[in-house]
Amino acid sequence: MEDTIVAISTAVGVGAISIVRLSGPEAIKIVNDCFKGNDLTKVASHTINYGHIYDKSKTNLLDEVLVSVMKAPKTYTSEDIVEINCHGGIITTNKVLEAMISNGARLAEPGEFTKRAFLNGKIDLIKSEAIMDLIESKSDEARKIALNQLNGTTSNLIKDIREKLKNLLSSIEVNIDYPEYYDIENVTENKIRKEIESMKSTLQELIQTSENTSILKTGINTVIIGKPNVGKSSILNKLLLKDKAIVTDIAGTTRDIVEGEVLIEGVLLNIIDTAGIRETEDIVEKIGVEKSISMIPEADLVIVVLNSNEELSPEDKMILEKTKNKQRIIVLNKNDLEKKIKLPVGIDKESIIETNTMEKDGIKNLKNKIVYMFHLEKIKTKDYTSLTNTRQITLAKKAYESILDAEESVENNQPIDIIEIDLKECFDILGEIIGENYSEEIIDNLFKNFCVGK
Ligand code: GDP
Repeated sequence: MEDTIVAISTAVGVGAISIVRLSGPEAIKIVNDCFKGNDLTKVASHTINYGHIYDKSKTNLLDEVLVSVMKAPKTYTSEDIVEINCHGGIITTNKVLEAMISNGARLAEPGEFTKRAFLNGKIDLIKSEAIMDLIESKSDEARKIALNQLNGTTSNLIKDIREKLKNLLSSIEVNIDYPEYYDIENVTENKIRKEIESMKSTLQELIQTSENTSILKTGINTVIIGKPNVGKSSILNKLLLKDKAIVTDIAGTTRDIVEGEVLIEGVLLNIIDTAGIRETEDIVEKIGVEKSISMIPEADLVIVVLNSNEELSPEDKMILEKTKNKQRIIVLNKNDLEKKIKLPVGIDKESIIETNTMEKDGIKNLKNKIVYMFHLEKIKTKDYTSLTNTRQITLAKKAYESILDAEESVENNQPIDIIEIDLKECFDILGEIIGENYSEEIIDNLFKNFCVGK
């Protein structure tokens, strides 16, 4: 990496301090050229230096700062890194940033610091992604998974399987190349079978854990749906414990979409309260209705709210019909009032619960149902060695398939070089997960999703 990059690494806004970070061969010189204080090119590595930052002409004072100088290779990117701790605030921080750019630094792209750490071999791809996950984690559980990945537990698991594959592959090679030497370890079918079996179960367990725990990271996208006045907003408010949605008894109050997030057993529920579903001529409400129906396919969970104090209306029936193939909970709300509702036969009784938003624990059933449905209690106690995004999980599944292919080839007494192809494929795919082999395009896309300055 020849050029030196710069970015504001703290959130943009008013705060006590902001950090402008540089990485690259010229980082120290660029800062030193507009710094008055110790000569930064001569200070020891990993020191914090007090001084003043000026503009390029070194006449206009920009800020009083503390400058951290960290010399390669023991830095985040493996390059020289300088961090300028400025006073917080948008204008000052931007001025310092501009000074660095006019002195020769280039504005970093999103995630470019981490990309450099990866390209310089400082961290693997799983760890790079874990850094972003850690920053973005919204629950303690998600944070623990990211931290575990960052510690290398998941990468080590993948590396262990690759190591086994490598050993197996090399002994197969020896057998192919020197079949006449029988003092060289003979890779018997049994040995291959045993190794394959062990790798298969490790991968299978990893995929299973990852699929269960991915919910911890993404949360459960939940849509609350029902005709006006059944109590959707009240339920949302009870879940969120604040008055986010406006609750009134005029039908159709929640016209647009209200969103909120709540943690249940440490798992994030992203809730959307959709506009009341109702046959209507009102344009605004109609848009809302269409929106709410269009959100059903994307949801992980649909909470259908019905008023237990009323008979089932055609709209209710329509909602039940539209959500019948989804993971859903049917809430018979207002159970503090007389029960008049009769659900059509054929509805899964397991999915029905009764609630009310009047009593303190009126929606406890709903929370319990969510915990039960998504096995949230079990997830919590699970081990945190897991893959966390679609990229990683899809590749792990592909690797698992090649192991299955290898197994099948063994069972069908295929020649050893056919088995070798499957094992080699598995080795390469696992390499992609940790970024041992990668394509430029994938890497570029991946880091683009990072925030600027990371
Ligand atoms: P939405 O239009 O479906 O979002 O319904 P709201 O949450 O705005 O509630 C409509 C009306 O029903 C309000 O007057 C609420 O106070 C009332 N309500 C909500 N939940 C209950 C409940 O469990 N029992 C009773 N009796 N009234 C409720």
